Amino acid sequence: MRKPLVAGNWKMNGSRTMIAGLLDGLTAGLTEGCDKTEIAVFPPSIYLSQVKDALDGSSVAWGVQNVCTQEGEAGAYTGETAVAMAADFGCAYVLVGHSERRALYAESDAVVAAKFALIAGQNLVPVLCVGETLEERERGETMSVVSRQLGAVLDGVDAALLNDFVIAYEPVWAIGTGKTATPQQAQDVHAEIRGLLEKRCPDMAARTRILYGGSVKASNAVDILGQLDVDGALVGGASLKAEEFLAICRAA
Ligand code: PEP
Repeated sequence: MRKPLVAGNWKMNGSRTMIAGLLDGLTAGLTEGCDKTEIAVFPPSIYLSQVKDALDGSSVAWGVQNVCTQEGEAGAYTGETAVAMAADFGCAYVLVGHSERRALYAESDAVVAAKFALIAGQNLVPVLCVGETLEERERGETMSVVSRQLGAVLDGVDAALLNDFVIAYEPVWAIGTGKTATPQQAQDVHAEIRGLLEKRCPDMAARTRILYGGSVKASNAVDILGQLDVDGALVGGASLKAEEFLAICRAA
């Protein structure tokens, strides 16, 4: 019922040459066993045009890693990217609430909720990242953190706009660290997130995809993605190598 989604978050990595090679590798390898998985990539915005040109007409979708909180498609917001601009570039997805944005750019739950509502309002699919720090996990606060982050977004969006969104559970202690949640730890949190959706928006609970993110690699993807409530992966470092990323896509 839920088609797996494997999404590559390239973060602030790449050059025109490196991205050309990565896109060549992705498009060349797509034929081999990737048809049951939806695939998306999130390049740095400055390379969106290059990515769109290479992927237009392929089965790989693309999106941006961040958008401006201001509504509308133009204005005096130096350095920002409007949601309407992401739509204009054919983006299907927009990342929102990534832990790096929350921690390094002080994005509060309120800011994340405002962005989520704007993205949904443009008919783009928000990929909402949630997850606890190591200290929060050790204090037993994983679900209270995740539930607060998800609740802020669901409180801030018109229910009519909630027809398609993706949640990425990304324990902060597993991002870029090489430490992965065990498949059971991921499944436990994913099941609880689905339980929260049942309470808040019951018609969305069974069909909303909940991705796992945090040091996913080809070598651990099968076990993590084999869990009942894990519907794909948000992949950082391993998405910068076409073969590794495609191996994760095949595992889904
Ligand atoms: C991420 O940036 O969303 C991520 C999961 O990174 P990594 O796979 O490198 O841990």
